Amino acid sequence: MTQTIGYAALQQGAPLTPFNFERRELRATDVQIDILYCGVCHSDIHQTRNEWGGALFPIVPGHEIVGKVSKIGEAVTEFKIGDNVGVGCLVDSCRTCSDCEDHLEQFCNKASFTYNSPEKVTGANNYGGYSKQIVVNHDFVLHISDKLNLAETAPLLCAGITTYSPLKHWNIGKGDKVGIVGLGGLGHMGLKFAHAFGAYVVLFTTTPAKAEDAKRLGADEVVISTNAEEMQAHLGSFDFILNTVAAPHNLDDYTLLLKRDGTLCLVGVPDHPHASPTVSHLIFKRRSIVGSLIGGLKETQEMLDFCAEHGISSDIEIIPIQEINQAYQRVLKSDVKYRFVIDLASLEQ
Ligand code: NAP
Ligand code: ZN
Ligand code: ZN
Repeated sequence: MTQTIGYAALQQGAPLTPFNFERRELRATDVQIDILYCGVCHSDIHQTRNEWGGALFPIVPGHEIVGKVSKIGEAVTEFKIGDNVGVGCLVDSCRTCSDCEDHLEQFCNKASFTYNSPEKVTGANNYGGYSKQIVVNHDFVLHISDKLNLAETAPLLCAGITTYSPLKHWNIGKGDKVGIVGLGGLGHMGLKFAHAFGAYVVLFTTTPAKAEDAKRLGADEVVISTNAEEMQAHLGSFDFILNTVAAPHNLDDYTLLLKRDGTLCLVGVPDHPHASPTVSHLIFKRRSIVGSLIGGLKETQEMLDFCAEHGISSDIEIIPIQEINQAYQRVLKSDVKYRFVIDLASLEQ
């Protein structure tokens, strides 16, 4: 066991405070990583407040992890000490079910998530990336190209793959009109990917002050979603809308903007359900409402390599870990440009 330190919520809604704990002894197939940076996802906030229910406290959040390999188990061949690596939302899965066989480990019923989830072998609570060090099975560790800036890469491990995966799955490309709802961590990556894939991209925001940034990040047009007239101008015109909003809202506002056979894809996970959408809006144009969950390991590596090749990374604000509670307050006010990333050098062992 290795003694390490992180920041944890000790109980529901508690502010994050320093927390000493142990990482497991390295197994033959494990990689030990010295964490350099960890992104701050809205899911971290939902879970420390137990907004989805069933949270296992204490919670050390963090599933946008970037660092350097500091030790490897004897059966590990594809990583060496000093390699730049990443870990996202998943740290294990069963490896044998049809989801695992299809490289969709995120849907495995036995998936082990990076924190607030039992470890596969011992059942102990997993602790995430707001910490100095982590030990992860090699199959769940990603390679990071030397071309990528490490701090700006951390958010790709969740915000990146969560937006890349649905855009790929629904074959978004040239000729498609795509909406991205919400300009936060996920939304700003959604803009970058939809633009890179060649779509015509419209950002829907509740914050007019973000319009200029949205265009720089890849939006061809910006719509203020609280302005009924601006919304009406886009009725029945979208092939695909990716909705990243972290709060319940009226989905009819977006289903009505879809063309025949258009798709509204939900990735935001609010604490309370959205009001039921008006079914006739779906029926009369064969529209779909769908959901998507992060992405599998193979696709996450593909996304990281795509980012290295195309010079894509996250727009970040770096913070010392001591400012994490203030950062959470800013995320809750939709005041993040566009992802907080913790510099773990600020955490003394
Ligand atoms: P975030 O940085 O807080 O961004 C969410 C954005 O949504 C805000 O910046 C804001 O953008 C907009 N928004 C917030 N409250 C709103 C409201 N009441 N009405 C309308 N718009 C609102 O959050 P994030 O880290 O991107 O995460 C977004 C959601 O996705 C969270 O629920 C998170 O748990 C979930 N998530 C899901 C997955 C998955 O696999 N499906 C993965 C990661 C995260 P504007 O200011 O532009 O309006
Ligand atoms: Zn996340
Ligand atoms: Zn499985």
